[in-house]
Amino acid sequence: MNFKKLMMATAAGACAMAANAYAVDLDAFADQVNAHMASLGKNIEIDYMEYITDAESEQMGQTIIFKNTGNKQLAFDFVPFDPRRTGLQEIQMIVDDVDTLHAVSGMEGEPIPTIPAGTDIAAFHSVNATWDGVQCSTIPVNDLGDSGVDLGIVQNILGYGGNGAIVAADVGHYGFLPPSFFDAIGGPGGGAGILGVTFTFRFIDGAGNSTDIDNNGVADAAFREIYYNTNFPWTDNPNDVIGDGGIDLESVALHEMGHGLSQGHFGNGFINKNGKIIIAPKASMNAAHTSAHREVTGTDLGGHCSNWANWPVN
Ligand SMILES: [Zn+2]
Repeated sequence: MNFKKLMMATAAGACAMAANAYAVDLDAFADQVNAHMASLGKNIEIDYMEYITDAESEQMGQTIIFKNTGNKQLAFDFVPFDPRRTGLQEIQMIVDDVDTLHAVSGMEGEPIPTIPAGTDIAAFHSVNATWDGVQCSTIPVNDLGDSGVDLGIVQNILGYGGNGAIVAADVGHYGFLPPSFFDAIGGPGGGAGILGVTFTFRFIDGAGNSTDIDNNGVADAAFREIYYNTNFPWTDNPNDVIGDGGIDLESVALHEMGHGLSQGHFGNGFINKNGKIIIAPKASMNAAHTSAHREVTGTDLGGHCSNWANWPVN
């Protein structure tokens, strides 16, 4: 996406929605994913993806709604006690420690994260605890721990390992994938600019429309998958600032888990005189990463509370 388009998109709204932002056939991708889900006998389709970019890239984070998504609805929430998921009150999350340990097939010849193995897994668990600890909501984020096996449906469909048959949790951190994966979903340049991505899947009825079984006016989320790009100098640095040559993984993971819990992007972007993307006001849910942000406060807190304040207690 060029700068002019970026500015137009951000002027139109804090969260630019541009189908086919890059030269990649997203329709074919959605068809492929949805045919796969149908082959599993599941009334589930992919609905949208949200990705965050490095503020030092010339790309701006995006929300991409796939085709065939009925009413183009962006608001999707999990339904408490949804029998199509666990039937439980909690939101379950999992960490794919296999991909996080960079051992997946398809990674050969690709760069690996600079962050020490183990520190990255800890960062994923830490952000789950951070969101779980937000007090305005009774929604429990139950961290199921490390998977011990290679998981991830989207990566499997695109040929990057994973497991195409298992929905392991409501939200999963499915580890690091090479930049070619991000080129495949974001188009040329995706691998160079996209730090991480969250895919949201929705439940559909027999006619292919989104469902709303709890009649809350918000379509029902089925599950979400999160992936991170190996192509960046990931660090464990709570003092990460723009231009320091590192990207704090926990900050980006907190952002992705925010998507996992139904938050969208927030903030307006512009390019400063050094050609860097600046987004204000600063929030975890900014569409581009500028500096460390490990806490849920301000607009992040407000968004979470408005989404989940009415979640029933067990
Ligand atoms: Zn995002």
